[in-house]
Amino acid sequence: MNNNKPPMSSSSRSNPRRRCSDLTLPLPPRQPQQQIAVPLPLPPSNQHINFSQLDRLNRIGSGSGGTVYKVLHRPTNALFALKVIYGTHDEEVLRQIRREIEILRGVDNLNVVKCHDMYDRAGEIQVLLEYMDCGSLEGTHLSDESSLADITRQVLSGLYYLHRRKIVHRDIKPSNLLVNSKKQVKIADFGVSRILEQTMDPCNSAVGTIAYMSPERINTDINEGKYDGCAGDIWSVGVSILEFYIGRFPFSVGRQGDWASLMIAICMTNPPQAPSTASPEFRDFVGCCLQMDPARRWTAAQLLRHPFVTGGTLVDHKHHRGFNNNNNQVHPTHHLLPLPPKFSS
Ligand code: ATP
Ligand code: MG
Repeated sequence: MNNNKPPMSSSSRSNPRRRCSDLTLPLPPRQPQQQIAVPLPLPPSNQHINFSQLDRLNRIGSGSGGTVYKVLHRPTNALFALKVIYGTHDEEVLRQIRREIEILRGVDNLNVVKCHDMYDRAGEIQVLLEYMDCGSLEGTHLSDESSLADITRQVLSGLYYLHRRKIVHRDIKPSNLLVNSKKQVKIADFGVSRILEQTMDPCNSAVGTIAYMSPERINTDINEGKYDGCAGDIWSVGVSILEFYIGRFPFSVGRQGDWASLMIAICMTNPPQAPSTASPEFRDFVGCCLQMDPARRWTAAQLLRHPFVTGGTLVDHKHHRGFNNNNNQVHPTHHLLPLPPKFSS
């Protein structure tokens, strides 16, 4: 984990004012200069960046699929991350990746790492990404629930945006959740990894770990071979967030464990739960993500309204929605209510 990571801002849980939906006191009028509370986002830049104008500054890190460098764009002094994917790829794979990158260049959300461009250097793929100066959340231990709720809300907002565009991530895990010094959390690494995974020999270690994969993805017998990628992403969010809370991979086996041990722990054992020291809201939230049956897992839109994320209380929430308990969820009845405007893009 990166040590220069900023502390997450404290969110609504420590601020009971946010729960006052029946506030009747008039708010003070805004001054004219305060009318725009947040600067308007710039339009997405679709201009290609010339590869020859990039200088590699240093290596940031390596994963199973490639190495990431910090690079400087000389004409603008802007910093980017350049992911160099191992190996050379044949024309069909490159064509597929180019198509995918075109889609990803159109992805524009505050909680998703921007993918700017792709370069093909004699079959070696290099992807130019938004630079996240505080690194990944891998190794994070965060028992402060309000900070955890803030991270969770940001991850779910990014995921909600992707799922609405029918983009499934398939590799949500702590090392793919990046942070910057503005305390923004963004989802990284999708699309290209998926294509490479499809084209690679499944025994190749570059395919990555199954530790954060949902049971029905690991063992296709579980759900009659049906695989709902969005529900799979939610499982991975649940495992990652629980890992942040307890400070270790939440299954009885290490995440580097061999395939068979991970498969037994994830597919044949009851899902892990948050410890009894956690708030009822957090325990319930984890239960909503880590449902064995993908159909019972909540969607990103539903989870954005879970009291753990909104800072409400479970008692009020259950009262409005009517479900029984943590391990016997029914889908919330309120999912037809409109989302708050910030999530409805
Ligand atoms: P895996 O290959 O199993 O997915 P990984 O996610 O750690 O593992 P990479 O995606 O290659 O591997 O990333 C390596 C490291 O580089 C990450 O852990 C992260 O710290 C850093 N990194 C990746 N993308 C960026 C980025 N856009 N900005 C800043 N750092 C990044
Ligand atoms: Mg990664």
